[in-house]
Amino acid sequence: MAVEIKGSVGRLGNNNADDVVTVQQLLLQQGLAIGQADGQCGPRTIAGITTFQSGFLNHPDGLVEPRGKTLQRLNMVGFKPSTTSSVAPKVTSPQAINQAVPSEVSGSITRLVRRSSLGVLNPGLGAVNNTYMIDKLGKPRESFSADCQAVTNDRLKKYIHTASVGPFRATGLKPAVESLRVIMSEISTKHPDIYTALGSAGMLCCRYVRGSTTSISNHSWGTAIDLTLKGVLDKRGDGMVQYGLTLMAPIFNSHGWYWGAAFHTEDAMHFEVGRALLETWLPDLK
Ligand SMILES: [Zn+2]
Repeated sequence: MAVEIKGSVGRLGNNNADDVVTVQQLLLQQGLAIGQADGQCGPRTIAGITTFQSGFLNHPDGLVEPRGKTLQRLNMVGFKPSTTSSVAPKVTSPQAINQAVPSEVSGSITRLVRRSSLGVLNPGLGAVNNTYMIDKLGKPRESFSADCQAVTNDRLKKYIHTASVGPFRATGLKPAVESLRVIMSEISTKHPDIYTALGSAGMLCCRYVRGSTTSISNHSWGTAIDLTLKGVLDKRGDGMVQYGLTLMAPIFNSHGWYWGAAFHTEDAMHFEVGRALLETWLPDLK
């Protein structure tokens, strides 16, 4: 049954405590780390609403209205009764406690939150597959393995470029490196705490997708990057993502980059150039 609110909640909203609790519970059920459902509409609640809206609105306003689209979506996407989300996970060792309980109290950008429903990730963006990449840019090299190897394709080599993108230097396809610099500059304005914690775990790297012996990683063309927060890599394939990555994803998306959190094997540290963006560069990559 759909949950209702009497007044608006969020930025410049009525923010009646009962309604705020209702919205906070819905946000928590979506895996957004907004802290406790305490009835106080603070910056974290508003950030949670905005993050949620960025999955389907071009201009998130941080406000949930009684009969608006955001409440409709909150009710629709992955809704679970609150009784299940309030059950504490069973833990067996101190190490397991760290992994199983998102440390919402710590306020850390590296704390883990559940990946959003796939339907709200990468709105309007398409990933690129090997057939497309090989067709448009050629094979980066003849043979691949699990390890990074050099590009041998002469045409592609011409467009491999190294530059500072802000928090670190990156080597990749020239327009991708330039696009990254613009994205990093926007992150530095919107999320300075994340910007200072950002590191790279590699951009250009000719290899197979991890765990595969047939599928070539888009890192091989220098159009993908793996990011660390405070030096920590998000664990691949566990369906949990670092909170800071969820805040950066809408920025990458708005610049045409696809977030690996939506891959079949969740890869939240990974961002890559989406199909539409790559298409705009092709005339210059002859
Ligand atoms: Zn990657």
